[in-house]
Amino acid sequence: MTAASGTSAAVSGTLLQVAVTLPVDETFTYRDPRPGVRLPLGTEVIVPFGSRQVTGFVVGHPEATAGSVRDIADVVGDGPAIEEPILDLCRWAAGYYLAPLGEVLRSALPRGERAVASRRIRLTEAGRRLVDLEAEGRSHMAGITLDAEDRALLARLRAARSLSPTALARATAGATARMAHLGKRGLVEIIDWVAGPSKSRKGAGEGKTSAASSEPPVLNPHQQAAFEACRAALGKGYNGFLLHGITGSGKTEVYLRLIAEARAQGKGALVLVPEIALTPQLAARFRARFGDDVAVLHSALPPADRLAAWRRLRSGEVGIALGARSAVFAPVRALAVVVVDEEHDGSFKQEDGVRYHGRDLAVMRAHQAKAVVVLGSATPSLESFRNVLVGRFRRLLLPTRANPAAAARPLPPVEIIDLRRHLMGPDQLLAPPLLEAVAQALAAGEQTILFLNRRGFSTLMHCQACGAVLRCSSCDVSMTLHRGREKLICHYCGRAAAIPPRCPACKQAALQGLGTGTERVESVVRALFPSARVARLDRDTTDGQRDRLEKLLARVHEREIDILVGTQMVTKGHDFGGVTLVGVLQPDQGMHLPDFRAAERTFQLLEQVAGRAGRGDRPGRIVVQTFCPEHPAIQFLRTHDYEGFVRDELARRESASYPPFSRMIALRLDGRDEASVCAAATAAAAHARAQAGTAVLVLGPAEAPIRRLRGRSRYQIWLRGTDRAKLLAVARAAAGVTLPREVRLAIDVDPQSVL
Ligand code: ADP
Ligand code: ZN
Repeated sequence: MTAASGTSAAVSGTLLQVAVTLPVDETFTYRDPRPGVRLPLGTEVIVPFGSRQVTGFVVGHPEATAGSVRDIADVVGDGPAIEEPILDLCRWAAGYYLAPLGEVLRSALPRGERAVASRRIRLTEAGRRLVDLEAEGRSHMAGITLDAEDRALLARLRAARSLSPTALARATAGATARMAHLGKRGLVEIIDWVAGPSKSRKGAGEGKTSAASSEPPVLNPHQQAAFEACRAALGKGYNGFLLHGITGSGKTEVYLRLIAEARAQGKGALVLVPEIALTPQLAARFRARFGDDVAVLHSALPPADRLAAWRRLRSGEVGIALGARSAVFAPVRALAVVVVDEEHDGSFKQEDGVRYHGRDLAVMRAHQAKAVVVLGSATPSLESFRNVLVGRFRRLLLPTRANPAAAARPLPPVEIIDLRRHLMGPDQLLAPPLLEAVAQALAAGEQTILFLNRRGFSTLMHCQACGAVLRCSSCDVSMTLHRGREKLICHYCGRAAAIPPRCPACKQAALQGLGTGTERVESVVRALFPSARVARLDRDTTDGQRDRLEKLLARVHEREIDILVGTQMVTKGHDFGGVTLVGVLQPDQGMHLPDFRAAERTFQLLEQVAGRAGRGDRPGRIVVQTFCPEHPAIQFLRTHDYEGFVRDELARRESASYPPFSRMIALRLDGRDEASVCAAATAAAAHARAQAGTAVLVLGPAEAPIRRLRGRSRYQIWLRGTDRAKLLAVARAAAGVTLPREVRLAIDVDPQSVL
């Protein structure tokens, strides 16, 4: 290092390689003019870029540079915002996902807070503009109430670029209140200004932090074997395991035990789960076992709490991070165990910004940290299953339920109702055998889950007179009728509209709802079983509010609900002892999606929901009504034969060269003007084809299945091949096309969505 500072002495100051948080692929060289200072890698800096200032991160210390360099404008914080292990992970992700390093680094920091270790306040873009306008005498402060002190404060910030709260407090009376007031108006940005975590919030989701930790059960032999295998690998470099355990087989208990072991050795653990908010129970179990040694990172955490949790992890005060996909970047110390629960879940894939896959990044992180990674699922992804077959992961099986009362029984049988044999009226949603099963469960005082993966009342409204369908004005999809809110809602952009009394096209009062959502199921079930206590669990009933979700789940646990109707939210890992019957209403739509993963997803979803039945003392029963009983996802589900399904499906994928036998990259283009998006997509595809040779198959351009979303037309190009480097080169070539100003192009590596 002395050599480096020695050579740079000639330049005076230190050269820094900076990854800016802009959609550019290159990094840039800047100079730190201060003599003898060498900012560590991962430090957040503010640098001039063109005519503006942007945030960036130090990612290298070049010894020399060809051209002239500009000086950094400011340093954020007292230490690196991102430490080296995370920096390494981000570098890998930037290369793998073809994403700008600066943007990956930014997404690796807790949301809403750019810098972890800083104590800085700065003007926002709006704040800067406002101060500049004021200075020019073109004040636009109308509508904003600022006094002289506020203005002085803003001017100070403009001059200093950013200040610490202490410096501000010294300069201005009541600075804290003023900053809050200016922040509300969007004029200043608090990069990091934590008065400590808010004490009030500790929902049931995080469980009671009582020191009385739960007594761990004695592991059954399968659990014990799985645990031993993982434990033996601790501290012996990277090791990958697929914990393939049926629903309720006690996978979580294995994670808990392994993590306890790591903690006993002073090592840290990272646990990723699909949607932490949906599984408050899981967080509660971690809390019960580890108390305050767990940082639960869910999206509902206020930024200050999230930042505080991040800090505690970084300082080593807390050793376990538990959260959804973005927690893969959590600064866990001495990382030794990485767990990805429900590893098959699609929500690990980030669908905008940096489109990373949380599970795949978690595996890479374990690799870099020389840690043990455990991917757990009852229905592993085909990718992970194949990794077992080719020897990349070791599979650990938990073939029985953990609960001793349920362990002796095999998983409940699945009864298939062929809907083609039952003539049912439009309002008769439950076929007679399912109806009877519900009645029986009710009579026995047992609980039922009815699963339909569509919310709302009717999935579309059409006019019986002219056939018109009510569509979203900014997306090319039909609006869903929601009776609860008496609105039509677009499930893709969220637009809500009043239900028109007449058809907008022919003006006749002939509008009718078609198709079924959970709201309609609920109302039909209430009418069929007037004395039953019925509840509905979907995004509409919980409205993103954790306490509502938790209350509802608690009522199901307490057996205050007889019939729970819901979307895939009912499938998520819940452990309701009283549920004996699970009814699946219409898996057909999901089965027939134009997606090569449709069968896999359907099986996974159905097996997950089936897994809610018979977890307690009484045997369960699963009833699926479908128009397509011969579909492989249904056939193998009959006997819960996931392995049979996977082998069958893998053969199909292999013959069609789909993942996991090839890799795919989707290029997604969108813009307001259909013609220019189409032209850009055509040009991009031509660039791709020019590069592709025989190694990469270029499909498209084609209109996306959802042609228009939020007012933007959408086209896709799909690349497929087995040579990853070649595939990336083709994607890069295609993305290098000159785009009209308002057309966007996104590269989606390992795409999970075909829509
Ligand atoms: P999974 O994560 O595979 O769905 P869980 O770990 O949630 O399974 O276990 C299912 C239920 O069985 C939970 O209520 C859990 O407390 C219980 N359980 C787990 N392991 C044991 C065991 N060895 N003995 C008794 N009960 C257990
Ligand atoms: Zn819409």
